[in-house]
Amino acid sequence: MKITVEKVQLLELANKYGSPLYVYDTDKIESQYNRLTDAFSSVKSLKLNYAVKALSNINILKFFKNLGAGLDTVSIQEVQLSLTTGIDPKKIIYTPNGVSLTEIEEVAKLGVQINIDNLSILELFGQKHPEIPVCVRINPHIMAGGNSKISVGHIDSKFGISIHQVPHIKRVVENTGMNINGIHMHTGSDILDIDTFLRATEILFDVAKQFKNIDFIDFGSGFKVPYKEGDISTDIEQLGLQLSERFNEFCIEYGKEITLMFEPGKFLVSQAGSFLAKVNVVKQTTSTVFAHVDSGFNHLVRPMMYDSYHHITNISNPTGRDRYYSVVGYICETDTFASNRRIAEISEEDVLCFHNAGAYCFSMASNYNSRYLPAEVMFHDGKDYLIRKRQTLTDILNNQEIIDFSARKNQQKK
Ligand SMILES: *Cc1c(COP(=O)(O)O)cnc(C)c1O
Repeated sequence: MKITVEKVQLLELANKYGSPLYVYDTDKIESQYNRLTDAFSSVKSLKLNYAVKALSNINILKFFKNLGAGLDTVSIQEVQLSLTTGIDPKKIIYTPNGVSLTEIEEVAKLGVQINIDNLSILELFGQKHPEIPVCVRINPHIMAGGNSKISVGHIDSKFGISIHQVPHIKRVVENTGMNINGIHMHTGSDILDIDTFLRATEILFDVAKQFKNIDFIDFGSGFKVPYKEGDISTDIEQLGLQLSERFNEFCIEYGKEITLMFEPGKFLVSQAGSFLAKVNVVKQTTSTVFAHVDSGFNHLVRPMMYDSYHHITNISNPTGRDRYYSVVGYICETDTFASNRRIAEISEEDVLCFHNAGAYCFSMASNYNSRYLPAEVMFHDGKDYLIRKRQTLTDILNNQEIIDFSARKNQQKK
């Protein structure tokens, strides 16, 4: 029953703001945040850093700041964006992959916690700035990801410093006099198996023991949320029970109360997001009924890039009889959101809702085909707020310099 009310609201928003449109529900974000903090309530010092890259609208970042979260960033631009919310730079962690020493130095100057994921930059940074404490990203070589593009813990992954190179890290620390204040891992998106995750955490505890001044251990993220009915999701409550107990034990072994950190993106925002697109054309071919929406992989690339499933409902006709559709976009390239999907009967101009569209959806959108980026709306305390206007042609032309071809032609004529 509640879902229908939600659908009516979403339809109203699509009518009010036009389509395509992203809508984010802050209630859902808050409940996911609370689920995670509750699961680890027996840990004395817990810190959750929201992974900005999942959904980076500054109002979302501000909402997290108000919840008390920190922010996890992967580029200097994400750091700068985060700082516009007025958050304390100490609550930001910067976990880039393969960026230049110069960028790392610039971020360090802003007072942000640095996390370094390769030996050569670690050594250079340590030589130049031994007084700035850094965290190191370790690759425990545990295969935990659900998709090869987003699994980052395996043996030939480009992420992190291999667990086999810890002796080398220690040598760098000795030679430079730098201080390692945190140990980090991020084994990749989509953790299915708690035991696999716990095995990786044991590896991190072993590494942490080898450094004297650890303030925190950051276990990254990769928590899986259900995208369709029957999907397995990470049992956060169970993980919380098991890891909290083990973490508290570790603090006693280590002889110091250290902070347990996570940096989830998808878990916190995926289910809070809905993507609304209008059906332009219903095309019946001999074998298939296509529903063409006013969007494409320019606005939602996950189905094409990762083969991700996004549940799709027809919010204009929620009680209609189910039929089978291929939902496709308007991009001049194959852009299939879903094949052979059962959806309540679709008519042209109906609004379809793509569920779980909070994480890695708007943040990966582009202007391909010179289409405008969708508008974004935040639904907060029963009210809707436009948090990003739809683009106009000015945005597409912005930064393009115009050459005056006629000037040269006239010169040649003379
Ligand atoms: C992307 C990323 C995350 C967030 O991953 P989710 O699967 O969205 O929770 C966390 N940490 C790092 C270093 C990342 O690159």
